[in-house]
Amino acid sequence: MPSTKMDARELAQYYGLPQLPWKYRPKDARELDPTNPCQLVEIALPVPLDQTFSYRYARPTETEPAVVGDLVVVPFGRRRKVTGVVVGVQGLAADAREVDGVKLKDVGQVYGPEYRIGAERMKVARWLADYYLLPLGEVVPLFHPPAPGTKARGGRTADELYPEVDKPLFELSAAQKTAVAAGSTHLKSQQFSAMLLHGVTGSGKTEVYLTLIEEALALGRTAIFLLPEIALTPQTLSRISARFGERVAAIHSGLSAGQRCLVHEGAARGEIDVVVGPRSALFAPLKNLGIIVVDEEHENSYKQDEKPRYHARHTALVRGRENKALVVLGSATPDLESMNNARNERFELLELPERMGGTLPLVEVVDMRGAKTVEGFTPALTEAMHETLAAGQQIILYYNRRGFARVVQCTSCGEVVMCPNCDIGLTYHLRPRRLLCHYCGHTENLPETCPDCGSEETKPSGGGTEKVELHLQAHFPEARLLRLDRDTTTRRGSHKKILAAFARGEADILIGTQMVAKGHHFPNVSLVGVLAADDGLGLPDFRAAERSFQLLTQVAGRSGRTGNGRVVFQAWQPEHPVIQAAAAHDYQTFIDDELPARKALGYPPHRRLMRLGVTGKKQGEASEAADRLAEVVRESFIRPGLTVLGPAPAVFPRLHDRFRFQILIKGTLNKEEKVWLRGVLASLRGSYRGVDVVHDVDPVSVY
Ligand code: ADP
Ligand code: ZN
Ligand code: ZN
Repeated sequence: MPSTKMDARELAQYYGLPQLPWKYRPKDARELDPTNPCQLVEIALPVPLDQTFSYRYARPTETEPAVVGDLVVVPFGRRRKVTGVVVGVQGLAADAREVDGVKLKDVGQVYGPEYRIGAERMKVARWLADYYLLPLGEVVPLFHPPAPGTKARGGRTADELYPEVDKPLFELSAAQKTAVAAGSTHLKSQQFSAMLLHGVTGSGKTEVYLTLIEEALALGRTAIFLLPEIALTPQTLSRISARFGERVAAIHSGLSAGQRCLVHEGAARGEIDVVVGPRSALFAPLKNLGIIVVDEEHENSYKQDEKPRYHARHTALVRGRENKALVVLGSATPDLESMNNARNERFELLELPERMGGTLPLVEVVDMRGAKTVEGFTPALTEAMHETLAAGQQIILYYNRRGFARVVQCTSCGEVVMCPNCDIGLTYHLRPRRLLCHYCGHTENLPETCPDCGSEETKPSGGGTEKVELHLQAHFPEARLLRLDRDTTTRRGSHKKILAAFARGEADILIGTQMVAKGHHFPNVSLVGVLAADDGLGLPDFRAAERSFQLLTQVAGRSGRTGNGRVVFQAWQPEHPVIQAAAAHDYQTFIDDELPARKALGYPPHRRLMRLGVTGKKQGEASEAADRLAEVVRESFIRPGLTVLGPAPAVFPRLHDRFRFQILIKGTLNKEEKVWLRGVLASLRGSYRGVDVVHDVDPVSVY
């Protein structure tokens, strides 16, 4: 029987799997001074092997010895060169070419001190590796720009920042002052602390963040400001840059390699003391970090959904703790986990219950059942739109499906045209005209006949933002339209252009997917229409209710920023408690319903979750690997507090031409169990060549 007592090698043997690489520990180098001109360095590399590697570093005269945390380039395999981090140094005799009979390769390059991962960031890196079950080398790329040392052409951030107005002239409201006072006490205490700023949409949260950052800078400390998506938040960026000018820089994937290096080096040298950006900004080499702001902390995009999978909000708390800094999480719709932490007094809760310069909009829930809809528009929404346009005000319409029609269906046999790679119907797009798979990107022409029965009668069914746009062109010919979705924003800078044009009043109606729900502040929008408010509720995910509540509340929050606003939710289940709570802007009721439901089912925030996903082109092989993994995990994790579910076919059982199975582990693994699981996963990955095994700690979605 396998057991948690077995180490990875024993386990591999038990299952007849290939052996794991062993950790190489040279013996005869210990005695020599580690600052020798010749060093034996142990390096963590971004390769999927759970081990470190030994190299020889014979440093050129006049250069410093390598130290732990140095970023280096080394040869790996036959031809590759990879960037890694030094995790240990020992002295080496100058003529040593091998240790314990193993030939050593030479370190190619050691980067300068700007690229060194100092003790504090190294602790964060080690935490990431342990918590998310990753080789240390795989988290290291988070801590440096993609091409260290690249020289930048032009300025530091080119047109990436959006200078504006000066400092606002208003005084903070009483609620803002209370929040700032609490934060400032924490800052002065020089102790780690976390604050949850729960403020309704437009309540002045950003102003609180900026004031606290000013205080941190005045105390000689530095700041990180995290945003969910930089392209969708030009307004917040401009406010930050207007406030801090030269001292602030943005880090994000839209910058050139050279620009990213300039920001990185500037932060390391202390020339920049506020770094703003999406989750990657969290790893900036700022010294003496005093505050980390996580704006819209509930957003899914804080979870990186590819390797290395990590959650930036959780990691922000860890980096904050290492720096004795203040971490401020802010949202109008806090994540249940964060609110639960606040209720358990792990975070200090501060509330901004009122909107600045206005009131929250009135939300009308319109029943779709039996309503005389035209292309998905109820008479109530249509009328509200006419009234809004007549008053010279703007409208946002939210529909979370892009394209023209969700599927194309045969009218004779009822089959829908499917993607050949996925178990998903293809979406019909008009511009360009084609069928597109939203999961794997497969495209094909519209079929002339039904692929199933040969009938010539096929029809598009279900809507999309393209169809909404066409409908509006026909029924609101005077209105000027803009559309914001993945199809209209493929070019760089297009988000910003569309948002800016709408803010300048160059369009009357903005139609879009989730993108329109983000933190925009459009003073002239007085109507928000949600075409299908219950669309997200049916998703087979335990967070479906939470996500729906957040989205509906956020999108409603775009209306009535400066005057009276209204919102129309069109719904098939108007009485649904999530829709009702969102319509009433009632976070408390929502969470008071949802937390006990989560508890009853043993889901976060009450128990942690880990998802093991097994995929493969061959169904049999993937299924066998999933069975084997589930068996060994289930047999080993027998203890109270842990539950292993599965394997079961995933909700989407085939995507990207791969069959998908998953296993869920509910509960918190201890350190030994994690180490053991790492070994099991590595063995499994080694033994099924056509199978991919993904592990996701604290997954944000489980399909
Ligand atoms: P949130 O981040 O909560 O959505 P913002 O900080 O963007 O809110 O504030 C919403 C609007 O109110 C902005 O235009 C901001 O300039 C303005 N504002 C913020 N604080 C005040 C204040 N104390 N007095 C007047 N206006 C304010
Ligand atoms: Zn597909
Ligand atoms: Zn047919």
